[in-house]
Amino acid sequence: MGYEKSEAAFEEAYRYIPGGVDSPVRAFGSVGGVPPFIERGEGPYLYDIDGNRYIDYVQSWGPLIFGHCDPEIENAVIETAKKGLSFGAPTELETALAKEIVELFDSIDKVRFVNSGTEAVMSALRLARGYTGRDDFVKFTGCYHGHSDSLLVQAGSGAATFGAPSSPGVPADLTKHTLLATYNDLESVKRCFEQSEGGIACVIIEPIAGNMGLVPAEESFLQGLRELCDAHGALLIFDEVMSGFRASLKGAQGLTTVRPDLVTLGKVIGGGMPVGAFGGRAEIMHKLSPEGPVYQAGTLSGNPVAMAAGLTSLRKLKANPSLYVTLAERARKLMEGFEAAARSAGLPLVTEVRGSMFGFFFTDEPVKNFEDAKRGDNEYFKKFHRAMLDRGVYLACSSYETGFISTALDDALIDETIRIAYEAMQSIHG
Ligand SMILES: *Cc1c(COP(=O)(O)O)cnc(C)c1O
Repeated sequence: MGYEKSEAAFEEAYRYIPGGVDSPVRAFGSVGGVPPFIERGEGPYLYDIDGNRYIDYVQSWGPLIFGHCDPEIENAVIETAKKGLSFGAPTELETALAKEIVELFDSIDKVRFVNSGTEAVMSALRLARGYTGRDDFVKFTGCYHGHSDSLLVQAGSGAATFGAPSSPGVPADLTKHTLLATYNDLESVKRCFEQSEGGIACVIIEPIAGNMGLVPAEESFLQGLRELCDAHGALLIFDEVMSGFRASLKGAQGLTTVRPDLVTLGKVIGGGMPVGAFGGRAEIMHKLSPEGPVYQAGTLSGNPVAMAAGLTSLRKLKANPSLYVTLAERARKLMEGFEAAARSAGLPLVTEVRGSMFGFFFTDEPVKNFEDAKRGDNEYFKKFHRAMLDRGVYLACSSYETGFISTALDDALIDETIRIAYEAMQSIHG
């Protein structure tokens, strides 16, 4: 495979865009080499500008559960766009999508749409603070909740500490209310509750973490969080921007009995268009402007074209709930294939699957939190990623990302991917 055109395009992009990309991970920094510049997608495939074709397991980092250019979503977008791209006024499409979500999630009575996952989480956090009248909140090391200031806190020590900003430009004053706990470790959360002087507004968690690789929360841990929050009058926020409509039709909430007070959504909910959402119990959502005092707004929020894409996706998913069984079977088959391929090459590999989400780490040890995830061998990962890419398989370009199966990926493509994985694993030592 040649990457000449992508190399030139990357160089050109570099001159005008910092790092040549609009989101850092796309630059391939952690795996090296030049990111293929994409010309188009089609079903399970991506095509780059050099004419290379890849089986796509990234799917725009999660949104494209029906693969590229799904005809129904495409059609909904085109038909809606013909009527105008944006009005900044209410449309029935917003209500229709809101209704679908409210019907699906028992934890959501009302929902508001925004333009990204970052915005959804930032707004949910403000609402939780406004509702409880408290400033401190708990987040978990290794969980990603978008790049807003108070959530961009260093993933670091396992002990409960007040967070330090993980980026210049984030004043420590803005992260001093962010308490860090360890994923799947209830004691670390208890310590946060003990340390907080003004009280904890909320605990925010990815109930299935997908941003430190794929690391699900244990059921007893989620139950413990629920009890702790209830005992202290704190809210529990499930950040399901990734897991929503991915882990199951109801996201992580289809796989646990624990119910959060607020939920954030994104990715699949927009069907490939920029959409985020946050929702929860009516009495909490009631605090939101214009009903209540907590301010939140957006010029393009609830954009009709984006709503149409999301609505079509959700209705397709709801009409076909059994597709999650198929997606999970394929994800499991793929991960079993990767494990066997790793074994045949004498490499350690542990894998995880939740619905259409999959993850793997080059380690022997079980991965329960970010410290464990960091033990995965990054050199192996880099080589594996490169070998797969060069053989036409597009995997996430960081070992801390999750992979996704779309309905466009059939069994034959999974088999082909596994066959390629054998070659790629063998090449790691070579
Ligand atoms: C992707 C993601 C976000 C951020 O969403 P953006 O649309 O990239 O702003 C927040 N939380 C989780 C769990 C995510 O996976």
